[in-house]
Amino acid sequence: MSQPRLTVLAGPTAVGKGTVSTYIRDNYPEVWLSVSATTRPPRPGEVDGVHYFFVSSDEFDQLVADGQLLEWAVVHGRNRYGTLRRTVQAAMDEGRSVLLEIDLQGARQVRESMPEANFVFLAPPTWEEMVRRLVGRGTETPEEQQQRLETAKLELAAEPEFNHTVVNDSVEHAADELVSLMGLRPLQR
Ligand code: 5GP
Repeated sequence: MSQPRLTVLAGPTAVGKGTVSTYIRDNYPEVWLSVSATTRPPRPGEVDGVHYFFVSSDEFDQLVADGQLLEWAVVHGRNRYGTLRRTVQAAMDEGRSVLLEIDLQGARQVRESMPEANFVFLAPPTWEEMVRRLVGRGTETPEEQQQRLETAKLELAAEPEFNHTVVNDSVEHAADELVSLMGLRPLQR
């Protein structure tokens, strides 16, 4: 049996972290994808407790004050997101492989408290491809897109802080590489 371990997946905005981690959640029952708490309101189709725990600003303050978060950050200058320490610990105690899909600030905090974790950077195949994805998904205004691209430039420079880099050229390929790095066997397709 492979060794249970905690893997942190981070990378620049619009690189496809969410798509890759959702694919893993749906195809690898042995991986437990952490469900974060957030102050962001749910988007259509998002379910409380499945995609996030949607909490109020006061509730988030309380989680921080009680030391219940392994890490937390303000992402894109707006909403707060954090990893619930208790749920991660419970999954690890059950011997499951744990995956955290979080931003770079959060990844740095986890490295402080759990340097033995596995840190994986998800990189775009090219800068042009990343711009195409960000603009193509159409969820941000042109100003927000510009802001996120500026942030992405800084985020790309963080790659050397990670143990491994996975290039997101296709979701299946990136997921296979990531699970291999988690000590699991990729799907037989
Ligand atoms: P979205 O609002 O699109 O679901 O997520 C926005 C960003 O928040 C993504 O880059 C995602 O990685 C990050 N994020 C989600 N959950 C957490 C968390 O628990 N902690 C941190 N630090 N970032 C998170």
